[in-house]
Amino acid sequence: KPRVLSGIQPTADSFHLGNYLGAVRNWVSLQETHECFYFIPDMHAITVAYDPKVLKQRTFIATAQLLALGVNLDESIIFPQSAVPEHAMLAWILNCQTGFGEASRMTQFKDKSSKQERTSVGLFTYPILQAADILLYQANAVPVGEDQRQHLELTRDLAIRMNNTYKRVFTVPEPHILKETATIKDLGDPERKMSKSNSTKNGLIELRDEPARIRKKIRSAVTDTGSEVTYDPENKPGVSNLLVIYSALADKSLQQLEADYAGKGYGDLKKDLGEVVADFCEPIAKSTQEYLSDQAELQRVLDSGAQRAREVASTTLARVYDRVGFFPPV
Ligand code: ATP
Ligand code: MG
Repeated sequence: KPRVLSGIQPTADSFHLGNYLGAVRNWVSLQETHECFYFIPDMHAITVAYDPKVLKQRTFIATAQLLALGVNLDESIIFPQSAVPEHAMLAWILNCQTGFGEASRMTQFKDKSSKQERTSVGLFTYPILQAADILLYQANAVPVGEDQRQHLELTRDLAIRMNNTYKRVFTVPEPHILKETATIKDLGDPERKMSKSNSTKNGLIELRDEPARIRKKIRSAVTDTGSEVTYDPENKPGVSNLLVIYSALADKSLQQLEADYAGKGYGDLKKDLGEVVADFCEPIAKSTQEYLSDQAELQRVLDSGAQRAREVASTTLARVYDRVGFFPPV
């Protein structure tokens, strides 16, 4: 079976709709055809200001949410990045293969560093650690949202470069980006993506939000001038974003929705979408709570995931160490 790898950061107490519609939904469906490695990049989470007291708890929450959303442990593993030291070890080697100018072109760094009081070097080298995450597992496919396309391109460049320098050591991975939901926008600022660490609380729908809160957030989402419910991302980014969310969750095409709302207004759309989103989130939030109530079990899930991950990661790293001219770890 071809192999899939992807991660989601423990940078909040919940995933948001963008994480699900852009990425995790695809993680679930790829399980049927792929061997899947899913991980919680806690090492990436400390590239920005964070609270060490909640980091582990957020990793447990992320694990519980993945299980609630349909990641199936008969077919996939879930593990914390920090439990597999090979990630940091390979990242060092890749750091030494990456040009400073090349790394400086990463737009996520520009975006995130502009919002930090103090920018760490870790935030700058984030995409290189991400390349290590992927290449260690010889992943064929990486299901992510559009915002990760540039990092995937860097990963591919590094894989090709390493393969040329050290003979074939890595599989060159392909991004798997769902076209329709590649970027879910912030509800308060539809020019920006919905984001765990950069959206305001009203700009994002967290999957653990209360139904009443969800309906309220959707009601107060920024819409556009005009009154017709039409999909037009250029001129109507707010309404178009709501239609994309609706279409994905209700499994109706955008054209179908436009037809349904012909002659109706933004208010009608928001009212119905509020119900659709609340109905989607409620059972998932409940199931997440159930998984969270047994932390010992979540710990076992992560331990066995990390064990399996290390088998694969250490095999790749041993080969790379040898080719590079390093001594094996004792
Ligand atoms: P942070 O703001 O801390 O970076 P995030 O919301 O960007 O958090 P990540 O954990 O960085 O979430 O990303 C997890 C996955 O979700 C990635 O595959 C990413 O591309 C995808 N993703 C994140 N935001 C969106 C969005 N608004 N629309 C579609 N996909 C998204
Ligand atoms: Mg992100």
